[in-house]
Amino acid sequence: MKNVTQKYRNKETVKSLVEKIREEAKKIEKKVTIMHVCGTHEHDIVKAGIRALLPKNVELIAGPGCPTCCVSALDIDEVLWLADHHNLTITTFGDMMRVPSSNESLYQAQARGMDVRVVYSIADAVNIARTHPDLDVLFFSVGFETTSCITAAEVLRVDLPNFSIYSSHKLVPPAMRLLLQRDDIEFQGFLAPGHVSTIIGTYPYEFIPREFHFPVSVGGFEPVDILLSIYSLLKQIRTDSPTVSNDYKRYVKPEGNVAAIKAMEKAFVVSDVRWRGLGTWPLSGSEISEDYAHIDAKKRFSIPKLEGKDLRSKCRCDEILIGKTKPQECPLFMKACRPDHPVGACMVSHEGTCNVAATYGSFLEEFQE
Ligand code: SF4
Repeated sequence: MKNVTQKYRNKETVKSLVEKIREEAKKIEKKVTIMHVCGTHEHDIVKAGIRALLPKNVELIAGPGCPTCCVSALDIDEVLWLADHHNLTITTFGDMMRVPSSNESLYQAQARGMDVRVVYSIADAVNIARTHPDLDVLFFSVGFETTSCITAAEVLRVDLPNFSIYSSHKLVPPAMRLLLQRDDIEFQGFLAPGHVSTIIGTYPYEFIPREFHFPVSVGGFEPVDILLSIYSLLKQIRTDSPTVSNDYKRYVKPEGNVAAIKAMEKAFVVSDVRWRGLGTWPLSGSEISEDYAHIDAKKRFSIPKLEGKDLRSKCRCDEILIGKTKPQECPLFMKACRPDHPVGACMVSHEGTCNVAATYGSFLEEFQE
């Protein structure tokens, strides 16, 4: 693994790719904006200082890729309501603990006595339910296809009367479609997420060049992977030949992980879901299929319509999530909103665009001087 990593961080390869990118960018002449839709990409792009290597007319912007940043405050409100009214034990990933809801975070609810437990995976949550039949355990399941396939596997096999799932899962390709349909963001290429693509493959992106005449590169996370994807996108743009280029072939197969796809198709139905600050996006998420309604917390318990709000005053996470605003343009960035005191969801996780900017921003400015 060490050798593989070194190969994709090789200084000479990086230099040569940067040179090729500069040549392509020069030929294109106009400004090119590339959007990625992956929190890991934002983290690794900033950590490796990739933006500083790019020519002035090539910009990389972050779309809605951080799994916890996209979770609507109203979804957290509902989970808190369920715990309060049905005496549930809430289990979820650590990153969800400090994401703000309309009123409080799960962490704050835990401090006032709610039974909220951090787990590493849904299997841990199932195990809590199995070993504690006296508890009624809810797993708050968030994330894109990389996590929803694991949730799907449990949906298909778990059969415990004291276990249910609240699904807040999102889907990447429909989100890409909705981003392309917006006329308030301008960009010319998509860097598609490598890890989601190991699950779904490259076929689900094919509508993008076909319907939108728009280029896609499926990219990995090492500096060479990211630069290779940028080069691939620039070539597609210059030659006006959009396609889905698989630039992460060592892990991504066109057909993806067939068993995982089958499990997701069985366990879930594609549904309209809420995205933080962006309202309900049609057919952009996964709800548990009717066949498994017995473990769907939304069906097992009836949840009243809750009044809530997705954004705190002045927080611009909605615009951050679609690449319209940069963290530094938010009036609260590194003032009222900091990693140790997040006001918005994008400042919580190490994959959140604001958190990444806060963590590496000043270091990179110093480094680039
Ligand atoms: S800096 Fe904080 S308040 Fe501003 S957009 Fe980011 S998360 Fe929201």
